[in-house]
Amino acid sequence: MNRFKEFIEKDVLERFLRYVVVDTTADEESSSCPSTKGQLELARLLEKELKELGLSQVECDSCGYVYGTLTASQGVKSPPITFCAHMDTSPSEPGKDVRPLLHKDYSGGEITFPDDPGLKITPQDSPALEGYKGDTIITASGKTLLGADDKAGIAEIMTALACFRKDKEAKHPELRIVFTPDEEIGRGTGKIDIERLGKYGYTMDGSQAGEIEDECFDAWKTEFIFTGANVHPGFAKGKMLNAAEIAARFISQVPEQETPAHTEKREGFFHLTGFSGEENRARFAFILRDFEEEENKGRIAYLEQMKEAFEVRYPGLGIEMTVTHQYQNMLRILEQHPRVTELAVKAVKNTGLTPLKAAIRGGTDGARLCYKGVPTPNIFAGGHLFHSKKEWIALGAMVKAVETIRELSRLWAEETEV
Ligand SMILES: [Zn+2]
Repeated sequence: MNRFKEFIEKDVLERFLRYVVVDTTADEESSSCPSTKGQLELARLLEKELKELGLSQVECDSCGYVYGTLTASQGVKSPPITFCAHMDTSPSEPGKDVRPLLHKDYSGGEITFPDDPGLKITPQDSPALEGYKGDTIITASGKTLLGADDKAGIAEIMTALACFRKDKEAKHPELRIVFTPDEEIGRGTGKIDIERLGKYGYTMDGSQAGEIEDECFDAWKTEFIFTGANVHPGFAKGKMLNAAEIAARFISQVPEQETPAHTEKREGFFHLTGFSGEENRARFAFILRDFEEEENKGRIAYLEQMKEAFEVRYPGLGIEMTVTHQYQNMLRILEQHPRVTELAVKAVKNTGLTPLKAAIRGGTDGARLCYKGVPTPNIFAGGHLFHSKKEWIALGAMVKAVETIRELSRLWAEETEV
């Protein structure tokens, strides 16, 4: 595998640096698909590059989904496999005018940023940094995020394809590649053409090198509209129903110990995502997260009981409650197809890394793909401190991700009974 190491290093870095300078910040306020124009710009670039790499059925559709197929190597009969990554970046930090910086031959300790002297990454922020002494660390310049989430994933998939083009002896099944828009705002698989995907898939969208995630949150959203009754406050006794004030009382009934600031590991939570209102009307929403669906159902039941109690306590108050199941824990699907995760673990191990099985305190495109019929765990892309100006990635981690994709493809090529 090391025969290509130099090529991989150069190719994956060049691609990564080319992709991160395209502003692909997702926009939750936008109703178009993709939510921002920059994503289409990157999509067209990737479409062109996939063609250059010799893939067939390459297409960037009007929503910005990019598809491409690499024909199976001769004699390989295993099912088609998908590698997936997302093009957008999180709206939580600016993604325009990203200036990627290479910290070559990193010697340990803090990393500082030229465009924001107050900002620094310390080994306390990111203990993983110390493992990359001597490597090249890539960061942004202090004003923006870097976009390794998930342009590292894209670059790694592209470089693996470039390797297959060079290395005709490498065996792989048919590879069906897809790059998605708007993952960060929960729309990554909304308009995906599932027919174009493989039988099984992998998202390259995890963090630390070695990570394989086969479990994610079960996710719900509950939205509330309170309708009150306004009258002159000087003459309001027994008449006014102040929707904003009553909504605030309602919100305060949610146990503080079950909110994101007080939970970790396998603990679930209620999270207030927005609150606005005045006397006549108030709106707010909680997202509910847990690894166990039953726990979330308990949270929904709690909110429903509170709703009933408030209706009794404030006659005339209108409470509208809408409940949406956003995505499910992908483990429920993946445990029915154990080979998919097993081969990922084996591939990671074969590249010399220690596989780290983890549960994502969030969701991925893969979680949704699992429930659309394509079992899809998540593999590391190598970045750290995602969604922040301190986001960083080591070149060595990207190289390992490329090797993992190549090795995983090789392992699938050997599978017969799937
Ligand atoms: Zn991501």
